[in-house]
Amino acid sequence: LKRMKDSSLNCYASVNEEDALERAAEMDRERMNPERGEKKRSLLHGIPIAVKDNICTKNTYTTAGSKILREYRPDFDADVVKHLNKEGVVVLGKTNMDEFGMGSTTESSAYAPTSNPWDESRVPGGSSGGSAAAVAAQLCAASLGSDTGGSIRQPAAFCGTVGLKPSYGRVSRHGLLAYASSFDCIGPITSSVEDAAILMDVLCGNTGDDNNSNLDAKYFDSSNNNSSSSGSSSFTDAIVSKENLVDVAAPLKGKTFAVIKETFTGLDEKVSASVMESIELVESLGAKVHEVSCPTFLFGLPAYYILALSEASSNLARYDGIRFGAQDYLNMDLVDSIKSSRFEGFGAEVKRRILMGTYTLSEGYSDAYYKRAQEVRRLIYAEMTQHLQTYDGFLTPATSSLAYMKNENQEPLAMFTGDLMTVNVNLSGLPALVIRSKDSADENNTLLPSGIQIIGKKYGEAELLGVGHIIEM
Ligand code: GLN
Repeated sequence: LKRMKDSSLNCYASVNEEDALERAAEMDRERMNPERGEKKRSLLHGIPIAVKDNICTKNTYTTAGSKILREYRPDFDADVVKHLNKEGVVVLGKTNMDEFGMGSTTESSAYAPTSNPWDESRVPGGSSGGSAAAVAAQLCAASLGSDTGGSIRQPAAFCGTVGLKPSYGRVSRHGLLAYASSFDCIGPITSSVEDAAILMDVLCGNTGDDNNSNLDAKYFDSSNNNSSSSGSSSFTDAIVSKENLVDVAAPLKGKTFAVIKETFTGLDEKVSASVMESIELVESLGAKVHEVSCPTFLFGLPAYYILALSEASSNLARYDGIRFGAQDYLNMDLVDSIKSSRFEGFGAEVKRRILMGTYTLSEGYSDAYYKRAQEVRRLIYAEMTQHLQTYDGFLTPATSSLAYMKNENQEPLAMFTGDLMTVNVNLSGLPALVIRSKDSADENNTLLPSGIQIIGKKYGEAELLGVGHIIEM
C-alpha cells in the first residue's frame, strides 16, 4: 500500500504535532552528539510510533474512544509508554478505537469511524482499527494495540499487517484503561514480524506496576525477561536473519502444528483459500501439519461475551462524572448527576454491554451465566493446553471473513460471531501471532488481505515470531 492521508482515513484520535517534532529534534541531536561516541543507540531511537487511545500518555488526551473521557489527560505514562520513551521512540499520536475496546469495526468510536486503507468503503476492523490502519497506510512505523478478544489480531488481518497478542501477563497492563481485566493485553502492530520482535524486546521490560504481570516469571528463560536496553534481546534473537541462514526453513523443520477442524466450518471461501495456501507453505518448508478437533471451540464465543461483559460492567462503574469521567453535571443532586454523566458520556454499544454484564453478575443469575462461563473457560484452557503438549502450535484463520463494509454493522450478535477465531486465545491466556496470508480480490476486483493466526504455548512468543518470520510473505 502507498502512504495515505489521515484526513481521509481518520486513524488518529489526536496527533501531538509540536511535541512529536520537538522530540524528534531532540533524538536527532542525541544521534549527532559526538560525546555519545560509541555508545550503542537503541533500534527504536527516533522511530515514530502510534499508541492506541486507551493507553495512558502523560499530559496527552487519552479518551479510549469515549465521550466520557474527552477531557482526560493522564498525569502519568503507561508502563509500555515509559519503556518506549526510554528507547528514544517518538510517539506521534493516539489512534482511534471502538469505545473502550468494545467492537470489531472502530465504528463505535465517539470520534467518527476509521477507514480501511485497502478499500475506504470497508472498516479496518477493531477495536484497534486506528493502530492497524495507521501501520498499513504508513502513517507511523509501528503501533501499539490492545487485545481483549481479538482487537490486535482482527484489525491486523483486515489491514494486512502483523499483530501479536502476547501471553496474558507478559506485558504490563499498568496504564491501560480496563475493558475486561482478566483478558486485556497490550501488543505490537507492525509491518513485519521482525519489527514486532524489536518492539516485544522493549514492551516486555520491567512490569513493576501490573500486579498480574509476570506472575509466572519462573517460566521465563532468564534471557527472555528484560528490555533491550539492558543488553540481551531475546525476541529479535529468535528471528533468524534470512540472509545468514543456509537453510531458510530451518526453524520450521521438526515442528508439528495442529489445524483446528472447527475453524473451517462456515468460513468465507476466499479467507479459507488464502489460509490454506499458507498452511501448505508451512508444510512445504518441512513442518508437519495435522488436523485436530476441539469440541469446546464453539463454546468460546458465548463464554467470552459473558465474562468480558461482566468484567466490563464492573470496570466501567468508576466513570461516575465525579471522580472519573467528564464532570458536566456537578450542579445536580448526586444520583441525577451520575445518571446524566453516564447517559450522555457512554455510547449505545457500551451501554448495552454494561447492562448485559450487570445482568450476568446479578444475584440469581450469576450461577447460570457467570459461573458456567468460568467453567467453560477452564475446559477450553484444558483442551488447548492438552493439544499443545503434542503440537508446537495451532494454525487457524485470523478472521471468518474479509474486512466488513462500513455502516452495515448494526446487528450486535452478528458482530459478536465475527470474533470466533480470536476469543479462545484470550480465554486461555495464550499468545498468538497474525501475519498476512495471500490477498484476494473482492467482487469489485479490489485486493483485500487475510491473515493466518499462529497460536503458541504460554510465553512462547519468541518461537511464534521465529516461525512467523519464515512464513511471512
Ligand atoms: N470484538 C471483541 C469485543 O468487542 C474484542 C474486543 C477487544 O479485543 N478489545 O469484545
